Amino acid sequence: MALMADLQRFLRDRSLSVCNLPQKGRSLFTGRDFVPGEVITSQEPYVCVPNNSSPESRCDGCFKTNNLKKCSGCQVVWYCGSSCQKSEWKLHRHECKALSTLEKEKRKFVTPTIRMMLKLYIKRNLQNEKVIPITTTDDYSLVEALVSHMSELDEKQLMLYAQMANLVNLILQLPSIDLKEIAENFSKFSCNAHSICDSELRPQGIGLYPFVSIINHSCAPNAILVFEEQMAVVRAMGHIPKDSEVTISYIETAGSTLTRQKSLKEQYLFHCECTRCSNIGTPHDIEESAILEGYRCANENCTGFLLRDPDERGFVCQKCTLLRSKEEVKKLAGDVKKVSENAPASPSAENKQDAISVYKAMEKLQARLFHSFSITLMRTREKLLKMLMEVENWREALNYCRLIVPVYLRVYPATHPLIGLQLYTQGKLEWLLEETEDAVSSLTKAFDILRISHGTSTCFMKELSAKLDEARAEACFKRAN
Ligand SMILES: [Zn+2]
Ligand SMILES: [Zn+2]
Ligand SMILES: [Zn+2]
Ligand SMILES: [Zn+2]
Repeated sequence: MALMADLQRFLRDRSLSVCNLPQKGRSLFTGRDFVPGEVITSQEPYVCVPNNSSPESRCDGCFKTNNLKKCSGCQVVWYCGSSCQKSEWKLHRHECKALSTLEKEKRKFVTPTIRMMLKLYIKRNLQNEKVIPITTTDDYSLVEALVSHMSELDEKQLMLYAQMANLVNLILQLPSIDLKEIAENFSKFSCNAHSICDSELRPQGIGLYPFVSIINHSCAPNAILVFEEQMAVVRAMGHIPKDSEVTISYIETAGSTLTRQKSLKEQYLFHCECTRCSNIGTPHDIEESAILEGYRCANENCTGFLLRDPDERGFVCQKCTLLRSKEEVKKLAGDVKKVSENAPASPSAENKQDAISVYKAMEKLQARLFHSFSITLMRTREKLLKMLMEVENWREALNYCRLIVPVYLRVYPATHPLIGLQLYTQGKLEWLLEETEDAVSSLTKAFDILRISHGTSTCFMKELSAKLDEARAEACFKRAN
């Protein structure tokens, strides 16, 4: 097969290889050592689309949100200007024509996933007709090689994919279209497509990167996937020795083994057997779950974790043996629930102050109920931080930021970009509040972490580096005066 030989050469040039592992299928291996922050591989998407289901629309070319105009042909797709429209036209020309023939009220069913499928078939055809060149990693046969897990889907899911395939067929009206194959491709999307995020890890769209999809999941990964514009970039998180399997995380890794395994099973249909998961049930794993998802000690000064008391009276602190009664925990959990029912998921601008009060009340109660490293409490504080930033209450925002960082340091590996981003926010807040020395310290730490996941050449990192220089100069000036 020509493709396989091409791919092998491509891999060899990058000191990588693909092996078939019995339980995991295709896996990516290193052919030399990689140092922290080094790019292992990168790939442009085979196809990608912006998330346009939210009230905010994005340009189809660059995913930006400002100065958008609707494509006058199909009235579905947005562009920020003629240069993006032009660069996308080769593909969109065909999509636009197909969408224009669809009844207006049916066009609202054209979700990002449906659009990605339309683009997939249009691109495949254009490559077959040699309008768009085929390259080693930009090749439909890599899409064909992706796992679909079709046989493991339930009736309801199969039905949904069949309906979506019908809509794609209705729109494209290709002469020789295979409905079963489209349905199978939807299943491939669900376990292989990647959410494309900006430098601050906020989702912007979805894309298919069939070469990056070879990389398997681990809950303790040695590499990380980030995006530079729409290009997927995989970097080493730590030192990776020669002949190691390269792994990234498909899910949020902050969570107990049971929580992680549940989300992997639900979305990716596999049972994880990584080093973290194989510890399930060990004393260390039980302690970790109790800290991340359990209650705090009744003694406010104790940092111990609680386990269910064998006599079913409640929960016992494993450090000071104090018992928290079932009744007390239940009452407090009830209070949290009552308050959280009034907490809006996405408060509008005029309700923000009210929402902040509700979330503050919730945070107080949760801090009494949960362990100080609890994920639930961390999420509430993240929400509060976000809202306080939006109303420009820098002082209180900084207070929550300082509560979140230690939890991140506990729940994420030391070089995880979320820690770096949080320290970046903290540094910016400290600087605004003229706590310059602290700002320098936070921004330095942020830079040292983010250079590993984000490299140093993007605009985002250059901006961080410039801010750090400025803060350092200001700190120097203050010290001298
Ligand atoms: Zn654009
Ligand atoms: Zn159009
Ligand atoms: Zn795992
Ligand atoms: Zn205790």
